[in-house]
Amino acid sequence: MKKTGKTKRAELYTDRNTQAFLGKFLSGEIRELEPVYDPKLGYRYPVVEAIVGDAAKAEDFLNRLCEAGILERRLYDKIIYCPKCGSANISIHYCCPYCKSFNIQKSSLIEHVKCGYMDIEKNFLKGNKLICPKCHEQLEKLDVDYRQAGTWCTCKNCSKNFDIPINTHFCRDCHVDSTFEDAVIKDVYNYSLKEEIREEVAVGWVVIEPISLFLRENGFEVESHAFLEGKSGANHMFDIVAYKGDVKREVSVIDLAISTEDTVPEQPVIALFAKIFDVSPDNAYLIAIPEMNENGKKMAGLYNIKVVEAKNQKEAVKALKDKLLKKE
Ligand SMILES: [Zn+2]
Ligand SMILES: [Zn+2]
Ligand SMILES: [Zn+2]
Repeated sequence: MKKTGKTKRAELYTDRNTQAFLGKFLSGEIRELEPVYDPKLGYRYPVVEAIVGDAAKAEDFLNRLCEAGILERRLYDKIIYCPKCGSANISIHYCCPYCKSFNIQKSSLIEHVKCGYMDIEKNFLKGNKLICPKCHEQLEKLDVDYRQAGTWCTCKNCSKNFDIPINTHFCRDCHVDSTFEDAVIKDVYNYSLKEEIREEVAVGWVVIEPISLFLRENGFEVESHAFLEGKSGANHMFDIVAYKGDVKREVSVIDLAISTEDTVPEQPVIALFAKIFDVSPDNAYLIAIPEMNENGKKMAGLYNIKVVEAKNQKEAVKALKDKLLKKE
């Protein structure tokens, strides 16, 4: 079972959306992902939506990361949806249990300790003083002269009194009332990176950062998780895009392929080739951690993709340095 979790995670680390998202936890930009309230849709995760493209996909994306054991979630709120129109723009109505009207008046009950008289606060008020309507004494100290004895409601529709109102949900969009029985209620979560998995994520992901730094130090302009437009008009995302030169800019694209098994298979080579075929950069590198399988190496040679093999991020930087220096 452990193994399937690990395989699932390794797969996710190679997904660009996952990389972009987890990078925000590793860099400290996000400590805990909190939902943002939207009156129409309920809760949303704008950071995730920006990465995956739309709101409908955000939840799926977060669920997958939870199932794989990368993220953990904490119950944040429960959201009530209108059973008729699906809107989350709901208000709670406290209603009269007799006639169901929500036109009720809530008051606090006060008891005069000395004479035992109990009534609603309004009947004690004389100006800004509290005077007992029964014995006409002034009530000064709470919990000494008088005590708060709970709440009391009066229905302005049927004039009945009661202490506990019933709740209904009022939809501000379609104006339909619903009850607890027919309400659609959904859990809403906060998400955070599992502490025990942080290192694994860092090894799988953070390889990009030291490489970007190294490239910058060597005079490249660097963008990570950058999109380039191809001849077809489609945009393609690369893990790193590096530019050099002022007049004619030389473009290098770099992708990462990480395997938790012994070797990286040829799929990342094929994926990178499909993108460079459209984008036509000057150089294309594939960093394979820990190493590329034989077939992948052959294909890379054929497609003019330079393979950089490395056991970890340090080695990746060193190997890339060797390749770049050899080239110059
Ligand atoms: Zn009533
Ligand atoms: Zn009294
Ligand atoms: Zn509604």
